[in-house]
Amino acid sequence: REMKPQPPLGLTDIFIAVKTTGRFHKTRLALLLETWISTTKHHTYIFTDSPDEDISAEGFNIIVTDCPPEHSHQALSCKMAAEYDHFMASEKKWLCHVDDDNYLNPGALLSLLRAFPADSDIYVGKPSLDRPMRAQELLEGNKTRDVHFWFATGGAGFCLSRKLAEKMAQWASGSRFEQTSAVIMLPDDCTVGFIVERRLGISMVHSNMFHSHLENLLLLAPSDIPKQVTLSYGWFENKMNSVELKGVFTKDEDPSRKYSHSFVKLRLNH
Ligand code: UDP
Ligand code: MN
Repeated sequence: REMKPQPPLGLTDIFIAVKTTGRFHKTRLALLLETWISTTKHHTYIFTDSPDEDISAEGFNIIVTDCPPEHSHQALSCKMAAEYDHFMASEKKWLCHVDDDNYLNPGALLSLLRAFPADSDIYVGKPSLDRPMRAQELLEGNKTRDVHFWFATGGAGFCLSRKLAEKMAQWASGSRFEQTSAVIMLPDDCTVGFIVERRLGISMVHSNMFHSHLENLLLLAPSDIPKQVTLSYGWFENKMNSVELKGVFTKDEDPSRKYSHSFVKLRLNH
């Protein structure tokens, strides 16, 4: 019998979840809406904690969670849980999470995900450390056990295939994500790694195409910048850390130097 050919993965098959908070709507988020989200609008979902008429009126998908507007483990896990649940309720094939200080390169993301076999169990992102995370898993009766696992830095972005996301449900859906986070007493991104590697025994795929502001972004060669899946900017060790964009924009293209200085608006060739 003939196999039904699967259509190639399209950008709109990717559920892009952006985590933000009310006080960053006019600053960080506005920059994303003007740049990469303007081309991925219909399959990008903004997870926040306060309604915003201006953003809704422009037709962006904004999901106002009941999560507290805090940087606590619990608040951030609450948003990750919302991302997971909304993705599961969608028909999309991949869940990709980014923070509101990430620049996402949609073309590079699509190329990366297309290289994986359809319907495989994939968790891909940038390892946060150069060795597995060590944690204490809380067991019944106040006992603990040492656990080691890799996880992808949330601030660099990561993706989960639908097949894998489905297997995660008993530890990730609804209130379970926050419960699992409490079992290892670590934030949302570590919790994803723990569920995939320790609960399911599936290894994370390590990629060096995702970048957070916790690494030295000046080390990226300008010619490599357009190939990266994500970039970021922010304070690191008391210095502003961002990609070096000399030569990427002319003064005419970016007169205010807004993009060149604070971020990236890459002209992509695809
Ligand atoms: N964030 C949030 N609620 C807060 C503070 C931050 O949802 O009260 C989000 C923020 O919008 C970003 C992510 O959490 O997407 C990480 O925050 P930030 O970049 O400020 O800190 P980092 O952890 O990178 O140092
Ligand atoms: Mn950040």
